[in-house]
Amino acid sequence: MSEPMLKVEGVQAKYGDFIAVHSASLDVPQGKIVSVIGANGAGKSTLMDTIAGIHKASAGKVYFKGEDITNLPAEKIVTRGLSLVPQGSRCFIRMTVEDNLIMGSFPKNARAGVKDTLDMVYTLFPVLKEKRNDLSGSLSGGQRQMVAVGRALMTKPELILFDEISLGLAPTIIKDIYATIKKINKDTGLTIVLVEQDTKRAIKTGEISHVMLKGNVVLSGNSAELGEEEIKKAYFGI
Ligand code: ATP
Repeated sequence: MSEPMLKVEGVQAKYGDFIAVHSASLDVPQGKIVSVIGANGAGKSTLMDTIAGIHKASAGKVYFKGEDITNLPAEKIVTRGLSLVPQGSRCFIRMTVEDNLIMGSFPKNARAGVKDTLDMVYTLFPVLKEKRNDLSGSLSGGQRQMVAVGRALMTKPELILFDEISLGLAPTIIKDIYATIKKINKDTGLTIVLVEQDTKRAIKTGEISHVMLKGNVVLSGNSAELGEEEIKKAYFGI
């Protein structure tokens, strides 16, 4: 089997003395959609932030495309092709939609094709094109989430980590955003990690599932083979 695009080996992450992630290991194969599932406080966001260089790992290793990226500065990790859409769809509310998107194109290899990538984002999310000159603060929660996804795409990533993008959104909007993510994966081969609390949605979208419980990855495998029951048991630790 070929080397995974992302390899996390025994990563530990702390807040002060509190260990939020004990020893997490997982693989993400190239071109796949992979779900990271877990309840509130399981350590999913901390692990994503650690992979993306926003939080420091206190032990363990993160390899991306075979290279050790553990604890590199976040912007260097983005430049290598790994982007995070953090929880809460943060965008700069006093900037226009288009300026928010263009901010994503800071990596050198992304700068050259800004116009084409912007067109691609507007094709995926036509409402953002309509509102491109509006301040992001005037957008709905779902539209802000689209801006956050679009900004990550503007970095020209090879892998995107989506941290609970469904949080606080209406079911119809969630359905649309997930359909768009699947389309991006199918059309471009972009590798995707989806952090989710909703096991059903995670299994439906991610071909591979990793379940986190109390700061550890406790179950990993093909989502269909594992099945909802086994994934739920691991999720609740029963
Ligand atoms: P959620 O689904 O609610 O986002 P999660 O699985 O992403 O949860 P984390 O947010 O990574 O979990 O939190 C893991 C643990 O670390 C929890 O016990 C949480 O209370 C703790 N934690 C998270 N952020 C901080 C922080 N800034 N300072 C101290 N402890 C924190």
